[in-house]
Amino acid sequence: MILKVAKWKDNATSPVVFMVDDIANVSVKNSKSDSLKIGEDWGEYGTDKNSMWDFLSKNLLKKFPYIKTTFFLVTDVRAPMALGENYSYTQRIDKDKKFIDFLNYLDRESNVELAYHGTTHGEAFSKHEDFLQEWETFKSLNMAVNEIKRGQELFKKVLGSYATGGKYCGYKAGKFGDDSIAESGFKWWCYHWDGIVWDRDIKNNRKYSYDLELNKGVVDIPSTVDGSTLSLKMVKKIFTRKYLKSLYLYIIKRKTVEKHINSLYNSGEVISIQEHTSPYRTDGRMQYPNIVSDIDNLNYIFSFLSKKEVWYTTCTELADYYLARLNVTIDIQKNSEFQLLSDKDLNIELTLITPFNGEELSLYDSQGKFLSTFKHRKDELYITYPFKRNKKYRIIKIN
Ligand SMILES: [Zn+2]
Repeated sequence: MILKVAKWKDNATSPVVFMVDDIANVSVKNSKSDSLKIGEDWGEYGTDKNSMWDFLSKNLLKKFPYIKTTFFLVTDVRAPMALGENYSYTQRIDKDKKFIDFLNYLDRESNVELAYHGTTHGEAFSKHEDFLQEWETFKSLNMAVNEIKRGQELFKKVLGSYATGGKYCGYKAGKFGDDSIAESGFKWWCYHWDGIVWDRDIKNNRKYSYDLELNKGVVDIPSTVDGSTLSLKMVKKIFTRKYLKSLYLYIIKRKTVEKHINSLYNSGEVISIQEHTSPYRTDGRMQYPNIVSDIDNLNYIFSFLSKKEVWYTTCTELADYYLARLNVTIDIQKNSEFQLLSDKDLNIELTLITPFNGEELSLYDSQGKFLSTFKHRKDELYITYPFKRNKKYRIIKIN
């Protein structure tokens, strides 16, 4: 009997994660109007009409209810892009009951998770180009670890537990980044903007990868697709800079976002779609990618993905599955009995695969109790089950 742990849950070809950066107790009013306009909210307005969440859920998440979203939360008062610039509102996540309630509401949504994205996001100076991203401001490992601790305490104060993972602000690690992440007990982290490999034709740079790997014991989750890379089918956007860029990539390099996603998919790699909560920054410039400008493109990308065999997942579920896959060995014994050996408890559902040779199979426990039936995908049979480690199971042919 050949039995393996599937690369991804349910024997999917690729996992899909929707990543939205910079949710915060912040808003940037761009209009003179008293009422909130779409795009002005980074999270402060909770579930109000035209808030970030109201817009995103109505215009994307309700249409594709199986999408799983990982939000990256800025915990303290967010710094402006330069000194003298101001948000319309910027506060710590524990400042207002409304925002605390909103974060807890998101946390209870089964398709949403909140992850860590620093305290202030960085430090502003008089010139925009001097802005230091948060991890670039740390002058020692100790300073980095202490600041993460401070941010994680805020996170816990509001949400009841620490974040299991997170992302560098601006994907900038500074000198002490990777050590500070490993020391702070994170399970997973987004270290790099890996989509740069596709965008800029970067080859043979070991820093970037479209697959999962470990960095000092922490799961490195890649960021692979820029949600503002427009499909050429977005003809509504034909006069925008982003559309011209897509056109340029196609004419000069024969690249399209569809080809990029297909390439990730055909290699069984991570399709992680990168976005921001709002287009508006304190310097008056548009922030890309953002859910508002990209909403049609996001609808297009998720409908493109809906025809594929993908696993919609949060970063934490993805990391848990990967760690279990790394840790488990399958011990096959006689009479089609087997057990999963692991030095850690398996607290998740794991998918096992076996080649399909015309016979249907079922899973039983060692006392002969029926548990579940194998399903087909490609030329394999697979079963997803909350297996316990070091416990005997049996596979029996269905007549
Ligand atoms: Zn950010």
